[in-house]
Amino acid sequence: MDYLKGLNESQYEAVTSLQGPLMVLAGAGSGKTRVLTMRIAHLIHNGVDPFNILALTFTNKAAREMKERIAKVVGDSNARSLWMGTFHSVFARILRIEGHYLGYPSNFTIYDQQDALNVIRKVIKDMNIDADLYKPKKVQARISTYKNNLITVKAYFNNPELMEADEKANMKFIGKIYQKYVEECFKNGAMDFDDLLLKTNELLTRFPEVLAKYQDRFRYIMVDEYQDTNHSQYLIVKALASKFENICVVGDDAQSIYSFRGANIYNILNFKKDYPDALTVSLEQNYRSTQNIVNAANVVIAKNLQQFKKNVFSDNEEGDKIKIYRSLSDADEANFVAGNIWELRNTDQRKYSDFAILYRTNSQTRAFEDALRRKNIPYKVYGGLSFYQRKEVKDLIAYLRLLINENDSEALMRIINYPARGIGDTTQNKLIVFADAQNIAVSKVLDNLPMYAPQLGLNNGVLNKLNDFWSMIKAFQVLLKTDTAYSVAMEVAKRSGLIKFLKDDQTPEGISRVENVQELMNSMQGFIEEQMQLEDGDPSLPNFLENIALSADTQDKNTDEDMVSLMTIHLSKGLEFPVVHLVGLEENLFPSFMSSATREDLEEERRLFYVALTRAEKKVFFSYAVSRFQWGKITDAEPSRFLSEIDEEYIEFLNPVLEKRFINNTGIKSNIFDDHPSEQRSFRKVEKKTIEKGDSSKPAPEVRKLKPVSTAKIINPSGASSQDIEVGD
Ligand code: ATP
Ligand code: MG
Repeated sequence: MDYLKGLNESQYEAVTSLQGPLMVLAGAGSGKTRVLTMRIAHLIHNGVDPFNILALTFTNKAAREMKERIAKVVGDSNARSLWMGTFHSVFARILRIEGHYLGYPSNFTIYDQQDALNVIRKVIKDMNIDADLYKPKKVQARISTYKNNLITVKAYFNNPELMEADEKANMKFIGKIYQKYVEECFKNGAMDFDDLLLKTNELLTRFPEVLAKYQDRFRYIMVDEYQDTNHSQYLIVKALASKFENICVVGDDAQSIYSFRGANIYNILNFKKDYPDALTVSLEQNYRSTQNIVNAANVVIAKNLQQFKKNVFSDNEEGDKIKIYRSLSDADEANFVAGNIWELRNTDQRKYSDFAILYRTNSQTRAFEDALRRKNIPYKVYGGLSFYQRKEVKDLIAYLRLLINENDSEALMRIINYPARGIGDTTQNKLIVFADAQNIAVSKVLDNLPMYAPQLGLNNGVLNKLNDFWSMIKAFQVLLKTDTAYSVAMEVAKRSGLIKFLKDDQTPEGISRVENVQELMNSMQGFIEEQMQLEDGDPSLPNFLENIALSADTQDKNTDEDMVSLMTIHLSKGLEFPVVHLVGLEENLFPSFMSSATREDLEEERRLFYVALTRAEKKVFFSYAVSRFQWGKITDAEPSRFLSEIDEEYIEFLNPVLEKRFINNTGIKSNIFDDHPSEQRSFRKVEKKTIEKGDSSKPAPEVRKLKPVSTAKIINPSGASSQDIEVGD
């Protein structure tokens, strides 16, 4: 029972209360995830079969790490039979087994955001509607909102209010697009990310025997980061837990940052309503960060009106003040950060992996990548366009997807003429139109080419090419029955002509494309080896494809390497780093320009700021630029309002000469930007001059007020602020 020794009293209570509903609501770094991990170990230690435990985490990486820790307490074989992972990965697994109830093949394809977007584009094009009005990304966000609220196509058309709202928003075809999109995915034997939850809900509601099976199986359910579950996830958990009610959720309302994706903070509130007898435990001690960081974070989050008040304190050392660096440009900011990492690595004897650079949007990475590269500092960018989303990688994956699921027309049309084999656009269109008219998949047309040839109106030359292509695919499928996934993929890469086509391009980009394909093969080999070592491992191609589809957005592999981590704040949730650089602290960037309009949006940005700050263990550096290259031009920027929300006692400026002008020197400790507008303006003026004339003198007094924050209520069904943020799991 050594594992219980390190826990404080409240943690101990949560870990050892094994029966009935339990909610741990507590601030960042207070040990919620640790409690969850230890509780699982404790359950197993007390004789609960790991087979009966389900743990839902926010990323697959978090699940892996928890499993490793649990294995240390209860042994490898026990830990192995735990069902642990993100909602998406766990329910994808269940849908593979039970999907036939809903008419899906067990080898259904999982469409990542990009694949889904391609299908939406196609639907919009086929419907001949104005793509300017119906921007595919916006349509996708809308459909996603509907799905996450369990509004199926049928429910949509039964709901005049929704239809009216869309009509008013000049989007009256949304319902129709939604319908066509769903039909297309179904025909392709594919599910998008939201389907993995929606279809699970459907499965559990429509088929009581399936529900009963999994209720009996998952007698103990645990959910980390509960504040960011959406309605669909909430319902799944509720249904599964309703028999035994052994459900434990942990979360922090102050860290709810995914409302644009439908996360519903009220799930936490509802917990007490759903389970009136639930035990609630709060944890107050932050073990992660220095006192200074915890205090600063408390001050910031207290500005939010919507929150449960919590006491969070740290018993760790007081620690350094948060350092603020003002830079002249984005490049200057990046140089500062890279230089600082270089220096601290020596002075504080740190590893590269001790450092994180956190930013609001993915577009900010480039400057940092350049600066780090110049200093030969190894780094890894998480999220963004992941390796598996690069074109050449997706192309090869499309071949593999097609081998598994012939009906996946998205994959089929992607590679039918890639590399070019004389099956041009006209032929492709004929195939699609014909398949649509017959309501069959394109693969069925290719299966029966001689029969359909007269109706298709294709000449013999083209028919031969189609035949050759399809015979090649069929041959690969046969190979799959006897050979490993790796050797089939190798064969595909060679015989399809893909490698040769890429190799013909000897530019640096071309060479790196070949390397990427090679890297995909390596990752496949690694996956197969890893799976072979597991008792219940599955080295098959479908399993490999599922894994990359689900990890495409977080790219969370190879974490042991000694590299600086670059990621959006959204992705950093739950993680910790000794040294954190939070960059781009400027108005309209963070808080983002889309978020200053309503109090709700601004409060979510503030929670995001709180999340970023509380990732740090020892040191925090804030930085902002006074001008930034954005949207193709240099734009002036103002320091983020969040900087002014931290009491002066917790911060220190790294550019003291200029900062002195606006630091409050009257003894008032807070709101440094607000209280001294003239000082602040001086500061801005100086910056402008510096950029324009390289002169940093003579400030001129002028008043600037922060934009007032509107209190208007916001309903945001379209998830409009989502384009810069990637899915976290
Ligand atoms: P977040 O809200 O950011 O997800 P959390 O509440 O899940 O944070 P953990 O990640 O579980 O917090 O814990 C934060 C850090 O504190 C971890 O490094 C963990 O090992 C450590 N920690 C937690 N509880 C204790 C304890 N009782 N004694 C020592 N260290 C602890
Ligand atoms: Mg946690």
